[in-house]
Amino acid sequence: MHNVANSGRENAYWKNGEWVSREHASVSIFDHGLLYGDGCFEGLRFYNKVPFRLDRYLERLRRSTTALAIELPFSTDELRMAVRECVRRSHLENGYIRLLVTRGEGDLGLNPETCSKPSVFIIPAELALVGDEVRRRGVSLITSSIKRAVGTGLDTRIKSLNYLHSVMARMEATAAGADEAILLNQHGFVAECSAENLFIVRGETLFTPPLSDGGLGGITRETIMELCAKLSLECKEQSLTTYDLYTADECFICGTGARLIPVRSIDGRSLRTVAGPLFTEIAEGFRSLIDEECSSGCDFTRDIEAGRRT
Ligand code: PMP
Repeated sequence: MHNVANSGRENAYWKNGEWVSREHASVSIFDHGLLYGDGCFEGLRFYNKVPFRLDRYLERLRRSTTALAIELPFSTDELRMAVRECVRRSHLENGYIRLLVTRGEGDLGLNPETCSKPSVFIIPAELALVGDEVRRRGVSLITSSIKRAVGTGLDTRIKSLNYLHSVMARMEATAAGADEAILLNQHGFVAECSAENLFIVRGETLFTPPLSDGGLGGITRETIMELCAKLSLECKEQSLTTYDLYTADECFICGTGARLIPVRSIDGRSLRTVAGPLFTEIAEGFRSLIDEECSSGCDFTRDIEAGRRT
């Protein structure tokens, strides 16, 4: 990402229930998150000091820990409160929160049974895939040689700490002078980008790959699909090949870190319309949704309501 570095205020980092400085927000060299990538994470945004759709991220985190058989040592209520407090402590009005869970400290061996207790961290930051200029102009994508394996490896819906496939794909993009990489699955269908889901537009219809093709169940993707329904735009989940991408009228990528960005070119082929009409309509709808849900002051009530539900 473009500008990851930002520490927030002193003691704005949450480590297993304690507020600590950046220097103290560290793990043991025997933590299995570090040794084996054994753990999972979430990344969410806040606007006007209000986390956007926090409960959806907490639910996805819980699905990841369940799938990995990691017992979270904190309740959803405790995590919700900790995220909100982290946002409050951050010097940013608008920013990004990384929530991560590691298997915890254990022996050097793989067996997680030696790990006594999972560790949970919350980190405030600034994050952007590209600068504003590139965002306006649209990003260039390449197809990576790295594949997302479906049905043969770890379920791609788990947001695990092992991001090497994405890291390698992003490195390929950078080496090729592109902004981001597309990962296909082993059958040649588009799965997603290294940290974003992808949509194309053909005529008046939007298409995005089904999650069974290897993408993460992105909350931005899910929100866009809901927006399409609200705006009476047709949106279909359909397997896509690079041919579908090259010949699309519009293409855009979306994720919490990147937000919504139009695609300018794919493997050297220019897209017909960049920041096309449907992208523009959806991006405006997304902005209105953020304004509605994240106007400061209205969050506390929703918190209490959410607390009642869980
Ligand atoms: N795919 C991958 C691999 C990701 O890491 C992300 C970022 N979380 C996404 C897609 C987009 O998901 P979301 O909209 O929930 O951020």
